[in-house]
This record gives sequence, structure tokens and C-alpha cells, in this order.
Amino acid sequence: MEHKLSMIPAQKHIALVAHDGKKQAMVDWCANHVNILSGHSLSATGTTGNLIEAKTGLEITKLLSGPMGGDQQLGAKIAEQRVDMLIFFWDPLSSQPHDPDVKALLRLAAVWNIPVACNEATADMLMTSTFMDSELPRQQPDYKAYLQNRLS
Ligand code: PGA
Repeated sequence: MEHKLSMIPAQKHIALVAHDGKKQAMVDWCANHVNILSGHSLSATGTTGNLIEAKTGLEITKLLSGPMGGDQQLGAKIAEQRVDMLIFFWDPLSSQPHDPDVKALLRLAAVWNIPVACNEATADMLMTSTFMDSELPRQQPDYKAYLQNRLS
């Protein structure tokens, strides 16, 4: 796979997802970082997004609930380069009916090389990064070259 340099913009599109055992932690985390998060655009799976909005007043684009396809919707947005960062508080102590979707979401985040936090400590580090309010250079798959190689 060939890669090319591209910029993650200063104003980012951040996706937020929390499993049931981590929803309160996600709501509290968003409340703690509301000043930073309000400077970016936000999407979330259905239940997570509604809970965060109710507690913090942040404006969030709410997708379907995770088990109903919300994780897959977020994965599609990552592949279309419409999500720049993923904050995903998954619960390592519970099994999930939609585990294949969860795995697919994390896989696409890795393919497209976006910053991902899977726990609060990493999410805190991302929020304190100087790249939160500036462009972040990153290598991403060169889809045009990929397709040309496959067609030749
Ligand atoms: P939910 O989905 O926010 O609708 O609960 C999250 C998930 O479990 O993937």
C-alpha cells in the first residue's frame, strides 16, 4: 500500500463512542473537556450522543445506536475521511453483541491512521496535545494509487 501525507485539520471532526459500562465515564470525561470539545465538530453513536448532549449541552450529530449499526456508520465516515479522531471507551470487562462491528471500527481507524483513544488516560493525553488546535500531518493510504495498481 502506498501512502501520502495529508493534514488532519485544526478543527477536527471527533467521534465519541462508549459501551454501556463506560457511558458514565464518557459523559464525565466530556464534561471535563467541554471547552476543548466545543471547538470541534462531534459525532457519536445514538445512546452515547444523547447522554453527552443532555449532560453537557455539546452539539452532537447522533448516529444509530452502536448495536443497530452506529459503529459501522462511524467506520464508513472514517473511510470517507469525514472523521478525524476517535474517542472510544470500550468496556474490556463485558462481551458485546456487536463485537464484529467494534473490531471493524477500530480496524478502519488504524487503516486511515487517525488518532484513537480507547481509554480515559489516552483521551486526556489527546486533549492536551498541541495538535488539538493545529493541523496534524499524518500518512494516509493513497487510494488513487491503490486503485491504479489494482486496475493495471
Ligand atoms: P450506543 O452505542 O452509544 O448507542 O450505546 C455504543 C456501542 O455500544 O457501540
